[in-house]
Amino acid sequence: MRDVTVVGASLAGLATARALRAQGFTGTITVVGDEEHAPYDRPPLSKEFLAGSSDEDAIALTEDDDAALDVEWRLGRTALALDGPTRAVTLDDGSILPADAVVLATGARARNLPGELPGGVHTLRTLDDARALRADLVPGRRLVVVGAGFVGAEVASTAHGFGLDVTIVEAAPVPLQRALGPEMGTACGHLHAAAGVPLHLGTGVARLVGSPRITGVELTDGRELSADVVVVGIGAIPNVEWLEGSGLDLDDGVVTDAAGRTNLPGVVAVGDCASTHRDYTGSRLRLEHWTNALQQPAAAAAALLGTEHSLPAHHAVPYFWSDQYGHSIQFAGHRAADGSVRIDDGVPGPATGSSPCSSTPRGRPSACSASTVPGPSGGCAGSWRNVSTDPIRHLRRRSA
Ligand SMILES: Cc1cc2nc3c(=O)[nH]c(=O)nc-3n(C[C@H](O)[C@H](O)[C@H](O)COP(=O)(O)OP(=O)(O)OC[C@H]3O[C@@H](n4cnc5c(N)ncnc54)[C@H](O)[C@@H]3O)c2cc1C
Repeated sequence: MRDVTVVGASLAGLATARALRAQGFTGTITVVGDEEHAPYDRPPLSKEFLAGSSDEDAIALTEDDDAALDVEWRLGRTALALDGPTRAVTLDDGSILPADAVVLATGARARNLPGELPGGVHTLRTLDDARALRADLVPGRRLVVVGAGFVGAEVASTAHGFGLDVTIVEAAPVPLQRALGPEMGTACGHLHAAAGVPLHLGTGVARLVGSPRITGVELTDGRELSADVVVVGIGAIPNVEWLEGSGLDLDDGVVTDAAGRTNLPGVVAVGDCASTHRDYTGSRLRLEHWTNALQQPAAAAAALLGTEHSLPAHHAVPYFWSDQYGHSIQFAGHRAADGSVRIDDGVPGPATGSSPCSSTPRGRPSACSASTVPGPSGGCAGSWRNVSTDPIRHLRRRSA
């Protein structure tokens, strides 16, 4: 193998370039990214960066020693097509990159409301989105957040801290139910209430009001909320449309085995765009977790190089975190739909404090969740049972 093209210049793309070099690959690596920016970290976009307590230098992903990776960066260029049999990638400037191997690391983009949207309506996925939103978060303005998922909840928390008048609308009866289950989802919903941020559950958006700029949000239950700014946080869509016709199996992302191999030889997929087989569920899952995008590439690089590599720790213990209203919510493991929840410590409710619990299908612990106020060490105040998260928490601290 002499040439590798990586499509997607973010966490998973950079991690794959690093993994290829770390595993001895000496050929050419070209990384294509449609954003103008060098790789940067997305989690701070709804947290420290949006709050203004970190800047672009602080969220850069590349480090000084990445110069030794000897990567050819093609930034500001969009990959339009992949020719499956030859692995040639066509870019929007007409150039064609032939390669022995291709890494798909195109992530996901924010889902938006349909139709033409008035000014003051934002989504949050990119650095440019975060800059535009930050400029609009003026103290005293009324912000309506559509969607009480992790990104929506974090924006609400950050904007509330700025002194905006924040309201959240969520179509589901319980926030974060799919990720955390009803008990911990309800507990997270209480964080908004405890901060004095109204959360309207079980109602959707009927119409955005105002032109050229937003003035209100009409809800499906007939109410209208006044708004100067709206943030739409209703999930993400994998960036895989450009791969249609390539011969790849696509199904809510690029279908891969546990190591990231696709159905085409010499083509792997990693990070948020990959729908990867997980041994712990025995099925495919497309995860939008920072640790997954960081760890998956080592196995995918080994698959391309034809060597063996243990599967990422994230495969055994998936992990993600969210920071809201001064609380660090952490979740490790896999929540089984038929599992029951055991509260180990604390009370999940408006009383803030630690509330770790385990989801235990048929008595076997499968997941832990904790909502804690970070201590002076930045650690977790709650106790974690049965699942070792220490290596992952170490990585996360390194990235912070
Ligand atoms: C606001 C926000 C907060 C988050 N907070 C957390 C958190 O607290 N905890 C957590 O675990 N995770 C969090 N995440 C998720 C985490 O950031 C993602 O899992 C991670 O960024 C995925 O990395 P990736 O490289 O797979 O994809 P991405 O970061 O999406 O990068 C993909 C890149 O490919 C580019 N691209 C797409 N299509 C093409 C194309 N055709 N040609 C060229 N380039 C293309 C995209 O523009 C992008 O630059 C957060 C995400 C966001 C947006």
